[in-house]
Amino acid sequence: MRILVVEDEPKIACFLKEALIAEFFAVDVAVDGEIGSYLARTNDYDLIILDNLLPKKEGIQVCKDIRAVGKNLPILVVSVKTGINDKVTLLNAGADDYLTKPFILEELLARVRALLRRPAGLEEDELIVDDIFLDARSGSVRKGDKRVYLTRKEFMLLQYLMRNEGIVLSRGMILEHVWDMSVDIFSNTIESHILSLRKKLDDMSKDRLIQTVPGRGYRMGV
Ligand code: CA
Repeated sequence: MRILVVEDEPKIACFLKEALIAEFFAVDVAVDGEIGSYLARTNDYDLIILDNLLPKKEGIQVCKDIRAVGKNLPILVVSVKTGINDKVTLLNAGADDYLTKPFILEELLARVRALLRRPAGLEEDELIVDDIFLDARSGSVRKGDKRVYLTRKEFMLLQYLMRNEGIVLSRGMILEHVWDMSVDIFSNTIESHILSLRKKLDDMSKDRLIQTVPGRGYRMGV
């Protein structure tokens, strides 16, 4: 899951980024409304946390920009403005939820989880494929009754594969949802992570749990 944080106050942006990374999200930060709008329209994020009072372009206009290009990802607006009219205006502009600054981190994370869960219960915290069990909240993975220890990126990759069980995921899709902008897209990052996941999760007796689909990408499950 990849989140864009649009926030011009460095302290808050940094705090949010660290908190979200600790929750196993990939995070990009935009420091003004123009960059935020551009990144949101050109990348495939799973959710946006958007400050309303921003240099260059207000949050409300960023909302409108995103909806105008047909993107329907959840937008959580975080702002010091608290007037009821602002709230209504923001919701009308395409925001999904509104949180007033200053906020408590736990509440922000709860709202993020609720928004990600919204599309037909697709974003459950617990995922099961075959004998692999993943708990997104605690960050733990089991194979059968054995605990499996994954690196942070391996965990994020496995979570993305499991959420999309049975669907072929291209390298591009995996990069968009599991890595942030700092990744070198020409490196063999994905390949090496798939390899190490297979080493930790596949037992030799059965068919491969994470399959390579030649020329197209990877698929988990049958
Ligand atoms: Ca601001």
